[in-house]
Amino acid sequence: MKTLNCDVCHCVIVEPFHRRNYFHIAHRDLCESCRDKLDYLVKPVIRSKSPFDYNWFYRLYQESIEQSIKKGKVDVKIVI
Ligand SMILES: [Zn+2]
Repeated sequence: MKTLNCDVCHCVIVEPFHRRNYFHIAHRDLCESCRDKLDYLVKPVIRSKSPFDYNWFYRLYQESIEQSIKKGKVDVKIVI
């Protein structure tokens, strides 16, 4: 049986299937629950960014994930 651990909450993902029950974002593996929480927290930050910048968007995700890993829970790092 193949398993994978979420990099943020460390839960075990059984039979990992990309984009179905785990998500590989910014070189990290996230479970569906952490991905959903991250999207929910990041959405209002993205809406406030004008004009939209893809590099900023990537950094926002990457730095938020790294901060979430350090804290052990989903968190957003505000990137300017
Ligand atoms: Zn998780």
